[in-house]
Amino acid sequence: RHNSQGDENFLEDESTKNYARKVADHYSARSNQTLEEREASPIIHLKKLNNWIKSVLIQLYARRGDAVLDLACGKGGDLIKWDKAKIGYYVGIDIAEGSIKDCRTRYNGDADHHQRRKKFTFPARLLCGDCYEVRLDKVLAEDAPFDICSCQFALHYSWSTEARARRALANVSALLRPGGVFIGTMPDANVITKKLREAEGLTFGNSVYSVWFDKEFSDKKFKSSRPFGIKYTFHLEDAVDCPEWIVPFHVFKSLAEEYDFELVFAKNSHEFVHEYMKRSEFVDLMRRLGALGDGNQDQGTLSPDEWEAAYLYMSFVLRKVRSKVRS
Ligand code: SAM
Repeated sequence: RHNSQGDENFLEDESTKNYARKVADHYSARSNQTLEEREASPIIHLKKLNNWIKSVLIQLYARRGDAVLDLACGKGGDLIKWDKAKIGYYVGIDIAEGSIKDCRTRYNGDADHHQRRKKFTFPARLLCGDCYEVRLDKVLAEDAPFDICSCQFALHYSWSTEARARRALANVSALLRPGGVFIGTMPDANVITKKLREAEGLTFGNSVYSVWFDKEFSDKKFKSSRPFGIKYTFHLEDAVDCPEWIVPFHVFKSLAEEYDFELVFAKNSHEFVHEYMKRSEFVDLMRRLGALGDGNQDQGTLSPDEWEAAYLYMSFVLRKVRSKVRS
């Protein structure tokens, strides 16, 4: 069967669509928390650390006046970060209707539950759609080219099939200007597969998270390692309960190269914290977010279980190559 674009190379089957719907419904159903609920969350310090990581990426790579594409933007949790970077234009897309609705409310400033604030200075376009299925170059033809694309904690939802992973990268590549950057954070496949190998069965975790692999991914099969479609169920206390897919790093890197990206860096979150906490402006940011510990430890105010959950993620920066001689 062909997908809605009738593109033979991008096949979608029913089960893939069902999973995408499951992910969308999960995120759509998550309501906004009050400030009190947020502060009482068992993973509040992990959330603060993840916000710090996203802020650092944005501060490192966004320039004043940039046109930004935020893939899987969720409820618009990064709008304030982009505003601080003084961007010129923002397009946010998410598959979850409820999240886009919350994002719109937040952008309009009517009911920001965290703080009353002035309106955002940049114009924005917010859309609901499946970023890993739809031809975004067609939908956003008039908004392109973008200077920077961000996909935070969401690219792994595209790795269910090769077609979706390709669509994700093709979309970003088509919409970024040459020299533009693609920043993101996603699960670190190396850490997850290592933990699976060390686990007794097909599951591992701690008090804040758990990961379950389906029986079909017994260790034997896992070793023969498929590039796409390795599904697990991820539970993160007070945040996620969803099917997710392994993104083997070498596959990600070589597929990105096919779509004219070069890798600037990829770092596990622990390494990322260690590296950027050497810079005083980012230490100050950690302090302002309330995640700076007393000692010299990178772990800051995170509990040991939250710190282990942080280790499951990595950040990446890709750059769209300026010009490529095609054969
Ligand atoms: N990027 C936001 C952030 O960092 O706060 C949200 C991250 S949340 C963990 C993952 C998001 O990915 C959800 O909002 C979900 O609806 C979105 N998502 C998952 N699959 C998607 C798809 N196929 N197309 C667009 N958004 C998707």
